[in-house]
Amino acid sequence: MPQRSYFDWNATTPLRPEATAAFAEAIAVVGNPSSVHAEGRAARRLVERAREQVAELVGARPADVIFTGSGTEANMLALTPAIETAKEKRPRDKLLMSAIEHSSVRAGGRFPRDAIEDVPVDVDGRVNLAALAGAVSKATRPLVSLMLANNETGVVQPVPEAAAIVKAADGFLHVDAVQAAGRVHCNMGTLGADLLTLSAHKIGGPKGIGALVRGREDLHFTDPLIRGGGQERGMRAGTENVAGIAAFGVAAETARRQLADEAAHMRGLRDFLEVELTAISPRAVIFGAAAERLPNTTLFALPGVKAETAVIALDLDGVAVSSGAACSSGKVQPSHVLAAMGVSPALLRGAVRLSLGWTTTKADVERFLSAWRKLAGALSKAAGIAA
Ligand code: PLP
Repeated sequence: MPQRSYFDWNATTPLRPEATAAFAEAIAVVGNPSSVHAEGRAARRLVERAREQVAELVGARPADVIFTGSGTEANMLALTPAIETAKEKRPRDKLLMSAIEHSSVRAGGRFPRDAIEDVPVDVDGRVNLAALAGAVSKATRPLVSLMLANNETGVVQPVPEAAAIVKAADGFLHVDAVQAAGRVHCNMGTLGADLLTLSAHKIGGPKGIGALVRGREDLHFTDPLIRGGGQERGMRAGTENVAGIAAFGVAAETARRQLADEAAHMRGLRDFLEVELTAISPRAVIFGAAAERLPNTTLFALPGVKAETAVIALDLDGVAVSSGAACSSGKVQPSHVLAAMGVSPALLRGAVRLSLGWTTTKADVERFLSAWRKLAGALSKAAGIAA
């Protein structure tokens, strides 16, 4: 295959070599972690080591990590009225979420439709805290779900401030940290999260493994999504995906150790990319640029250039980018995130996302820039407008 430059790390990341090695080692272990014999205990050790590693990434206790089959499943598990703590046994009566949540949160978990309420965001893509406070004050026992960083814009949400509002109203806070983990510091305590979602394949682990982390040990679900053998402290039945979990653990540990260096690396390249992009296309709009963003994400549009056209042309030139969220590409659907930010329909259709990672190089960025220069020039000429 000719040389390619991959700019879709928010859709999924490559496996880290450390995670590949851990996967290969663990897949050779025969035991079931629930078995008491030596083989079973060897498998159990792998799962429990990974639990410690994942817990450490977010400053949690290992006992509070529940492994799931994906970030989506962790979100589904979290979003239920049936959450209890030692003191609070009554079901949650309202689910509040920002208008820019991932579709796995937007689906509302196990709340009835009429118990779900949206909280708006501002033009920079940050949740409106005054609106959140208003919505929380009208609910009796709310569960609030807020992402730490948006998958399309990379905009980091004011989660600690939101947590203070939620706590003051005796609410619970669920934080979807799938995109933020490994890219910015994520600490359950600092964030004030009661529940937090992670996904292995966004931090260099395998696809099909996630975790829901509890911020308090007395919190549990009275209606787990998957019931059966009682694995994961009764909160997620099914024999554990030992190799996937072991690789997730190693990816989490590597991401934690390398976070500062990787974030600086990605930020340097992303900032260079944006400076050069706006030099080539001064009319390009970078969404969320005025807000704090993940160090690896750029979402932009150039008036008159359709995202599908750009994605296909760049792909032919060896550059993999996406049009907004991965789940909605393929279907030509305007982004609900940009719509919530009040972006005009003309720009909405042109949103192109580049997301970088730890192996992205300056040569990759330059390959994108030269492909973009060619494309923007050709499209603008055809449309009779300036790039
Ligand atoms: N939450 C966010 C913010 C995401 O970006 C994604 C995936 O793109 C998910 C949840 C779902 O994670 P998974 O792919 O593990 O189901």
